[in-house]
Amino acid sequence: MKNKNSAVLTGDRPTGTLHLGHLVGSIQNRIALQDQYDRCFYMVADIQALTDNADNPEKVRNNVFEVTLDNLAAGVSPQKTTFFIQSQVPEIAELTVLLLNLVTLARLKRNPTVKDEMKQKGFGEDVPAGFLAYPVSQAADILFCGANLVPVGEDQLPVIEQANEIVLKFNALYGETFQKITPVLSTTPRLVGIDGNAKASKSLNNTIFLNDSFEEIQKKVMMMYTDPEHIHASDSGNVGNNVVFTYLDIFDPKKNEVRLLKEHYTRGGLGDVEIKKRLIDVLEHIIAPIRTRRRELERDPDTVMDILKSGTKKTRVIAQETMRKVRKAVKINYFD
Ligand code: ATP
Ligand code: MG
Repeated sequence: MKNKNSAVLTGDRPTGTLHLGHLVGSIQNRIALQDQYDRCFYMVADIQALTDNADNPEKVRNNVFEVTLDNLAAGVSPQKTTFFIQSQVPEIAELTVLLLNLVTLARLKRNPTVKDEMKQKGFGEDVPAGFLAYPVSQAADILFCGANLVPVGEDQLPVIEQANEIVLKFNALYGETFQKITPVLSTTPRLVGIDGNAKASKSLNNTIFLNDSFEEIQKKVMMMYTDPEHIHASDSGNVGNNVVFTYLDIFDPKKNEVRLLKEHYTRGGLGDVEIKKRLIDVLEHIIAPIRTRRRELERDPDTVMDILKSGTKKTRVIAQETMRKVRKAVKINYFD
């Protein structure tokens, strides 16, 4: 029997195809939770993607299909999870507008995730207002479908925290309407980039994608950041900030062998190429079945679009129900 008291919402921004960070940070939890909870939603966050890609709608549009394919190929099941497109549920936008009154500009500017992303994108004071306010829109994404569990990577924790402040404020002003939101973190809440950057990200181009070919995986692993002081195989090496070992720790199921390799590398006598070859095999083993399934789905775009279309239709019914309650709470239900 699945749990009926909680609902799960998760999503991706359609800004590029998905990578190993998404797999271990969020997708694996999506797959686990869809077997435990009756109501699971997967959202393609196209409106959120437009907040920093307003000048590139083509990119967002094309990636709606790509991120959906990635999730389906990785094992998010349309039988267990309702797939929908954010922009096609206009009630979310309506709820966002009401929630925007419950946050201050100062609080939005203080959100550490938004601050980091603004720096990364070089926005400064010229940040689009929609981008600065995306945590409010994200609160609406979660609340409109009654979700209280949100599988996310670590970078999203401040956004969930802000959503919970909105819940408290809304309930205090208009009566108990929304539940507290709990983020669900995985055992790898933040995957580092292949360049050693703190976060593998679509926007930083430092990732191994779920649809990379074997040759691409090979090339990227061979370029991976290891220990710059480890010049000859005989030198003793550092495993601490070494991305190859970080990835082996996460992806290699043979933990004991990895432990022995680390000892060997630290002692000296183990070359970078050897550990990289092992990682290539480990990653190919994980990505190959996803790649194969993706190729099959790619051949049938109508089925993929139908999954989004029927899921969106189902989601809208729920959204309309929530908005009836919300309008009543905010006293704007004039014609009911
Ligand atoms: P963008 O740069 O466009 O924001 P992104 O790579 O950050 O892209 P999102 O679509 O914003 O990807 O994130 C989707 C989900 O994947 C979120 O829950 C996010 O926390 C998680 N995620 C993204 N990158 C990582 C990572 N490197 N490690 C763990 N989780 C991640
Ligand atoms: Mg992101």
